[in-house]
Amino acid sequence: MTQFVCPSCGAGNRVPEGRDARQAKCGKCHQTVLTGGPVEVTGAELQAHRAGTKGAALLLDVWAPWCGPCKSMAPQFAAAARELEPDVRLLKLNSDAEPAAASALGVSGIPALFLIRDGKVIAQTAGAMPASQIVNWTRQTLAKAAA
Ligand SMILES: [Zn+2]
Repeated sequence: MTQFVCPSCGAGNRVPEGRDARQAKCGKCHQTVLTGGPVEVTGAELQAHRAGTKGAALLLDVWAPWCGPCKSMAPQFAAAARELEPDVRLLKLNSDAEPAAASALGVSGIPALFLIRDGKVIAQTAGAMPASQIVNWTRQTLAKAAA
């Protein structure tokens, strides 16, 4: 059983074992729960995803509109989402729009990636990466954390 937070309405959606979470529709608003791409979140929405995501990880990209490397990584991060779903839900937080949430995470340089499982940050890294490296870092870190 995994649980994801609907990006459209914020409802928690449980996906039974053996069902493809990528096909799941929200029980409340009927939108797709996993969208095949990163979800832009506010600080409050980030908290909702941290609390409401179960049995899957979150990968958060902290970025800002003025940050060139962040912009160049954006399509790479989107490509990584297509590979990592449904094991990992990808989120994006604009640190200019949500400075309190970014500082709570301890962001120093951007782009910064945070890997979150069971509501807790289990690893972080900084600097722009190609999609393959984002996927490898995420999978290797999760495998290490599970061992
Ligand atoms: Zn919904």
